[in-house]
Amino acid sequence: MERIRIAPSDRVFVLTGAGISAESGLPTFRASDGLWAGHRVEDVCTPEALDQNPELVWQFYSERREQGAKAEPNPAHVALADLEASLGERFFLCTQNVDDLHERAGSKRLIHMHGELAKSRCEHECGEPPVEDRRVYKNLSEVGRCACGARLRPHIVFFGEIPLEMNRIQKEIDRSTLMVVVGTSGSVYPAANFVHWARQNGARTVYVGPEAPLNAHAFTSVVQGKAGEVMPGLFEVE
Ligand code: NAD
Repeated sequence: MERIRIAPSDRVFVLTGAGISAESGLPTFRASDGLWAGHRVEDVCTPEALDQNPELVWQFYSERREQGAKAEPNPAHVALADLEASLGERFFLCTQNVDDLHERAGSKRLIHMHGELAKSRCEHECGEPPVEDRRVYKNLSEVGRCACGARLRPHIVFFGEIPLEMNRIQKEIDRSTLMVVVGTSGSVYPAANFVHWARQNGARTVYVGPEAPLNAHAFTSVVQGKAGEVMPGLFEVE
């Protein structure tokens, strides 16, 4: 397997998707015909779903919390934490995942562009910051309230909502010379466009995963394999 060389002048932007957590036992999204853990995204992952059936939405994310708490980081998460340890502020990680396996592996310079399972925020967007919330709710009546009195919602970016920290992400992509994308199908936007932004800036772009993503043509190279198997030892830091 060809190793990815990282020169002293390189800045690395990494984008990860559900595939990096697959070997930790968390199901990907498109593994089963576009269902996420047996649910249609329209039923559990849209603002309309939260309006119409908040109990189902909360039950779904409560199950994801339970499942996420049992999962452990795999060697791919650890490989990225190790890379950060050797590159310092020349490394930046953006994950589409809502699990916390990157932080539990030791990653620090990271953004969760689609939110975090372990947090909740005001359903009315009153301006209060998200709060840590790992509780598993069985009934809607158990769900906590914001300081303003509104019910809490999962701190998750639903389909149709704007991802978090886009300005910071754009800035980090603009100054990167190498983009590494791991385990994402290239079908959720704007994340699927990041590789194009990086290419426009002349960066090398590498995809890691067992199958080609929808935007495979935009990558300068593809490392085919499971992330947990190919990521350890993939990087050669000069
Ligand atoms: P996706 O489910 O659309 O695609 C998963 C990709 O991972 C596929 O391309 C597949 O080939 C690849 N893959 C499968 N096993 C792999 C492995 N062992 N190593 C590397 N790659 C592997 O995922 P997506 O593109 O990230 O989009 C799904 C959306 O749903 C995301 O925005 C995310 O927020 C959410 N989601 C999150 C989680 C999580 O937090 N763990 C899990 C499911 C879905």
